[in-house]
Amino acid sequence: MKIGVLALQGAFIEHIKKLRELGVEAVEVRLPEDLDGLDGLIIPGGESTTIGKLAVQYGLVEPLRRFAQRKPTWGTCAGMIFLAKDIGNDRQPLLGLMDVTVNRNAFGRQIDSFEADLSIAGLGDEPFHAVFIRAPVVTDVHDGVEVLARLEDGRIVAVREGHLLATAFHPELTNDRRLHEYFVDLIRHNKAENG
Ligand code: GLN
Repeated sequence: MKIGVLALQGAFIEHIKKLRELGVEAVEVRLPEDLDGLDGLIIPGGESTTIGKLAVQYGLVEPLRRFAQRKPTWGTCAGMIFLAKDIGNDRQPLLGLMDVTVNRNAFGRQIDSFEADLSIAGLGDEPFHAVFIRAPVVTDVHDGVEVLARLEDGRIVAVREGHLLATAFHPELTNDRRLHEYFVDLIRHNKAENG
């Protein structure tokens, strides 16, 4: 199994480390041909406007879209924004694949970052300690989207739509490996089903 991490900007090195800790081959993706032969892709947190602009410059938007239409793809934070179909009034390049509405910078300027213990569907009883950095939230989900986690106030911070996964927080910045394992399992199932 080989997983790519989009390495245009943001926290890609941390994702690569996590995947390697799990014994999975992980490579940086900067050019369309880097997607060849990958079984899955992570789009990291960072700044979604920058990631979008660089993806346009490197001719990556269409190749990424085609890849993520078929293969497991996981967006964290800025990556969640980049995967969404609807981000309200902001104008920036998006892959527009997940049927969710995302509010960028949902926590405003006062609360730049915070941490919270989440209960995440499919990860067992142990809470997941999540780090949020200028994080988005999902404000609306449409048919076929499964909500995996909410904050205590009910706001949605993790979703799955078939082979697509999105989390508003940064699971690569803590020691918990369960979400990366979850994604690796998702890829394994996808490979078994689709070859
Ligand atoms: N607020 C950033 C954006 O709009 C996302 C922050 C992050 O990825 N940690 O892209």
